Amino acid sequence: MAQLDKADLEQMTDDYLQSLEPERLVTVAKNLRALAVEQLEKLEESSKTSSRPPSSDSPYQSTPKPDTETSPVAAEAESSVLAPSAEGSSEAGAVDPKSDEGAPSAPPSSPGSKGFGRRSAGKQRGAQGKWRDQPLKAERTIPHYPERCAACDAPLGEEHRDAKPHGGYYQFELNRQGQGFSIECQLHHYYGASCSCGHHSQAQPGQGECSVVTGRKVQLQLQEQVLIGPMLATFIASLSVRYRLSRVKIQEFLWDWAGVALSIGSLDRSIREAGFACRPVVEVLIEELQTAELLHLDETPWYESGRLCWLWVALSAISVVFFIGPRTKERLLQVISTAFVGWLVTDGYGAYRWYDHRQRCLAHLIRKALALSQAVDAEARQLGQWLLEEMRELIHALATAGHDDPDDPGTRRLQQVALLATASEHPKLKALAKEILNDWQAVVAFVSHPHLPVTNNEAERALRHAVMARHITHGTRSAEGSEAYAALLSVIETCRRRNLSPWPYLAEVIALRRKGLSVPPVPMPLPQAA
Ligand SMILES: [Zn+2]
Repeated sequence: MAQLDKADLEQMTDDYLQSLEPERLVTVAKNLRALAVEQLEKLEESSKTSSRPPSSDSPYQSTPKPDTETSPVAAEAESSVLAPSAEGSSEAGAVDPKSDEGAPSAPPSSPGSKGFGRRSAGKQRGAQGKWRDQPLKAERTIPHYPERCAACDAPLGEEHRDAKPHGGYYQFELNRQGQGFSIECQLHHYYGASCSCGHHSQAQPGQGECSVVTGRKVQLQLQEQVLIGPMLATFIASLSVRYRLSRVKIQEFLWDWAGVALSIGSLDRSIREAGFACRPVVEVLIEELQTAELLHLDETPWYESGRLCWLWVALSAISVVFFIGPRTKERLLQVISTAFVGWLVTDGYGAYRWYDHRQRCLAHLIRKALALSQAVDAEARQLGQWLLEEMRELIHALATAGHDDPDDPGTRRLQQVALLATASEHPKLKALAKEILNDWQAVVAFVSHPHLPVTNNEAERALRHAVMARHITHGTRSAEGSEAYAALLSVIETCRRRNLSPWPYLAEVIALRRKGLSVPPVPMPLPQAA
């Protein structure tokens, strides 16, 4: 039996089927059934039933991890961003007691109660811990002295300083030298000094903000006394977020190429720290967006601990903000706020419809019309082609001649074709026509406002990177992790949009935030020499 193709299906009109004798009709029906079964099976294929990769699965149809598997407390205690956290034993240990308590209540023999999918991330309770087997050797010692007397504010010179430090810690820091880089082990020594007033002051490592998650044993504290220096933390964050390497691969990379042994937990902590450090920078970026004249908005599915959320992007000419959350008008308003009066460029999603100054992305509509122009149904094909041509012509006319025709036949023709198409029986054609007419003002806003871009490509390009990351990591694991990831993306993309390298700036932000100081905004782009 030959496979039916598009041309065959087109010939099988109502008249043709009615003209057939019963015997032949059965044969035709059998052939159609075979095609339908084959197509349905193809449609239902997923990574579980075929050799397709999990990343090709639809984000809408995936079954999220049932919440009953982990108690809410255990889920909160699970604190890492994108990958297991296993810092020492304490942080990972925080997850375990609850899941152990939960286990006996489930039938011991029930499948899936143990093993893959049940185990919490990171080191398991009772597992042997790992420690550094050799003490760190410092290549350089960096002394820290108090500059002024804490009591009387008098400057403290060399002659006042103590002979021995009262405290210190080791830190790995990345140094860039010419074409290369090296990772150095530094010993930070903290000294005291005695003032002539009799007061003894001590230099102390700085402390900044703390990210608190209820139920977590070890909170994320911004502080100077940590194993990983600001530049190395930036480097690790760049490997993770920009270059999409897993924690394990980063560990391997640092050991193989720099001879530095760091635990997965330490790496994870410094990635989350980098994201958390960017929080005030993102607040400034949001304010900048609210005063922009034109914003592109788009969203893509995202997972947070297996649940479907949305990764949003909002971008102006010079600022980009990513955020992860529900796909609602309320979430959107938290970013653009009611104070925003500029233009939005969006797709047709309902959460945008309330906003008046809006240009609808025509690329979406053109793609749908293009698909229709290749449909089996002759009417749909013809009207689809017509809609496609009208939209393309409209864009072309405005791009070449600008808008100078007061009668504006282009938009009127498009509207007429769309009206014609609403009468069609073809569901997809009808849907597209209604989509165009229901959102008419936003579809043709660019005709009366020629400065508006007709596609949302800018926003879609900005999301590409994150979509690839979603395919690799399957999202974030906690609200803190989502915020950290979105903050890092925002800072990195904003710097790229301003023609700056994000990394020196990010290292500065981390260094200042560890001291509890405020951070400078992302530098503005230099005016381009014309
Ligand atoms: Zn003093």
